[in-house]
Amino acid sequence: MDDRILKELREFGKVETGRLLSTMTTLRIGGPADYVVYPENDIGVDSLITFLENEQIPYKLLGKGSDILCSDDPYHGVIIRLDKHYNDAYFKGGMLTAQAGCSIIALASECMKRGLSGLEFASGIPGTLGGAVFMNAGAYRSDMAAIVKQINVYRDHKVEWIDAEECEFRYRHSIFQRHPDWIILAVRMELTPSDPKKIEALMADRRKRRFDSQPLNYPSCGSVFRNPEGRNAWELIDGVGYRGKSRGGAMVSEKHCNFIVNTGNATAADYLALVEEIQNAVFEKYGISLRTEMEKFNWTF
Ligand SMILES: Cc1cc2nc3c(=O)[nH]c(=O)nc-3n(C[C@H](O)[C@H](O)[C@H](O)COP(=O)(O)OP(=O)(O)OC[C@H]3O[C@@H](n4cnc5c(N)ncnc54)[C@H](O)[C@@H]3O)c2cc1C
Repeated sequence: MDDRILKELREFGKVETGRLLSTMTTLRIGGPADYVVYPENDIGVDSLITFLENEQIPYKLLGKGSDILCSDDPYHGVIIRLDKHYNDAYFKGGMLTAQAGCSIIALASECMKRGLSGLEFASGIPGTLGGAVFMNAGAYRSDMAAIVKQINVYRDHKVEWIDAEECEFRYRHSIFQRHPDWIILAVRMELTPSDPKKIEALMADRRKRRFDSQPLNYPSCGSVFRNPEGRNAWELIDGVGYRGKSRGGAMVSEKHCNFIVNTGNATAADYLALVEEIQNAVFEKYGISLRTEMEKFNWTF
């Protein structure tokens, strides 16, 4: 830790030093980050990024860390989190404008109370709104692309609204994955008026389906692999006999074999070893390259 850097960073928001990424990710895996900064507003974001660029310090946006596999190595850079201060949501008719740090579960529940339909699919996705747009998160044949109209983005030192059409949304993909230096600050979504009781019932049904089919009692990052065209990743994993297999503390869930869970003491290396073994086995048997849905972060190889 460098005292001068720390002093400067404190100008831009609350700073934590040496915090383990395992405490900021749903997998509960990851080594210490030199700094974690929580900017309070757009000026703070711009000043922080300008400083980091000038000092050539690497940085990474983190939402709720629910789609990321961090290595156990120290991260010599700055983790930027918006979930403390970018939490406001504004409703006007069927339009919802919300800041990127909002929990999408909380937003889904607020929409339900207001009789606005469209976010029901998100009621079990433990991420931020920014992370959901970045991933084009989805479930039950719906996704963020179906409701997002505009995105407030920080790029090239400017804050601007861009239209959803520019965002290259497709299955678990958005333009933001090609531009890791862009920061999603807020999102405008269009929802459809509906009966709150109907929305509540749909959300309860979705919740039950998740509890019945997913290993929610263990730390995970949700589905590990993207479904290849026309196939379900879980069927391929089952087909190569990996259901229930473990490496160290990482285990392919018996309940849902596209989930690899941390049974308590998984290292990042255990987890990645299992991911790669599955990829090799599936390729050997089916000739299909399974791509991960979760992102690998801070790996040197
Ligand atoms: C139990 C469980 C169930 C899940 N179910 C689903 C599901 O049904 N459907 C689904 O799609 N996903 C699911 N997921 C995965 C995950 O929750 C989603 O992908 C979620 O949208 C990720 O959001 P996050 O805030 O946690 O992002 P993070 O994991 O923190 O980050 C993911 C990526 O987004 C980037 N990012 C985050 N915020 C911003 C921002 N403001 N600006 C720019 N980039 C940003 C990060 O840099 C990173 O590259 C599940 C995960 C778990 C643990």
